[in-house]
Amino acid sequence: MAKLKLEYIWLDGYTPLANLRSKTKIIDGDPAKLQLADLHGWGFDGSSTEQADGKSSDCLLKPVAIYPDCTRTNGFLVMCEVLLPSGEPHPSNTRATIDDDPDAWFGFEQEFFLYKDGRPLGFPIDGYPAPQGPYYTAVGYKYIGSLARKIVEEHIDICLAAGINIEGVNAEVAKGQWEYQIFGKSAKAAADQLWVARYILARLCESLGVDVELHCKPVRGEWGRLLDWNGSGMHSNFSTKFMREVGGKAYFDKLMAAFNKYRDEHIAVYGPDNHLRLTGLHETQSIDKFTYGLSDRGASVRMPVKFVKDGYKGYLEDRRPNSAADPYLVAGRIIKTIKTVPTS
Ligand code: ADP
Ligand code: MN
Ligand code: MN
Ligand code: MN
Repeated sequence: MAKLKLEYIWLDGYTPLANLRSKTKIIDGDPAKLQLADLHGWGFDGSSTEQADGKSSDCLLKPVAIYPDCTRTNGFLVMCEVLLPSGEPHPSNTRATIDDDPDAWFGFEQEFFLYKDGRPLGFPIDGYPAPQGPYYTAVGYKYIGSLARKIVEEHIDICLAAGINIEGVNAEVAKGQWEYQIFGKSAKAAADQLWVARYILARLCESLGVDVELHCKPVRGEWGRLLDWNGSGMHSNFSTKFMREVGGKAYFDKLMAAFNKYRDEHIAVYGPDNHLRLTGLHETQSIDKFTYGLSDRGASVRMPVKFVKDGYKGYLEDRRPNSAADPYLVAGRIIKTIKTVPTS
């Protein structure tokens, strides 16, 4: 027996964006044998998280996924859903609303800025650094600085040790902007891993005095190429078993017609302030249009080259979700729209 440190993680009730919350529970157990089924529910004060009022403040935490936490001796990260005292899902519990498909696969490209002292890493106190252009996938101190690489490297290692499917990392177009990708089979599995990857990054940055900025357009800049800075997206790549194994042009056309029909419903859950980012510039389509195209980074949905080459089979990339979006809502909405489309 050992003392195990379990970090129970959940999403609070703030709108339009939920915040990550967590607290530590110490239990006796065998770290080599601990499984999700061994974990007990827990509670918290919902009146401090916009999830209850003070008179009846108890909310319940239901563990739904567990990941080893290599930053702590005998540590584990426990992703939780929030329940009402009755045991029903809390209204803020977006995970519970997913009509999941175990054969739907999702890959999220999480873009973000690293911030220190109220501005992106590498930005001077006044004004702007040299215009964007050389920063994407760059190497060298003058582009990357000395801190960001350490952070993203350590983030990869902690995610991998946790068993999270992080698939890659790259420096992005704006200075101080980065991306990592998370892949999972089923909407819940993919989105759980992304939320925990976000948690790991935020916690990692605490001791360095750095914040992870998920807003989709944190640097408004000024109009004109030299002072204009990219926003952050969360491109959401998806495929179902049917798309991977059968697909075809006829099905694809029906699928895209459904995405067009439910455009507003998608945009509604693709993250706040998205009109600041989906402008038709910076590799985006305007928020009020729905288009798709081959290799087209100015489209709402991009078909990878291989998708078309294989006869409209494989995965698609929805480029509209933004960096701050809730991946439970995004993946849940994509599945919902897909389910309106008959496969024959
Ligand atoms: P790009 O920057 O060119 O858009 P990335 O390599 O950053 O592409 O991201 C590609 C994403 O596609 C990854 O998140 C990956 O997990 C995802 N992906 C690959 N194959 C599939 C698939 N069959 N179903 C769903 N997502 C997939
Ligand atoms: Mn990418
Ligand atoms: Mn990117
Ligand atoms: Mn992409």
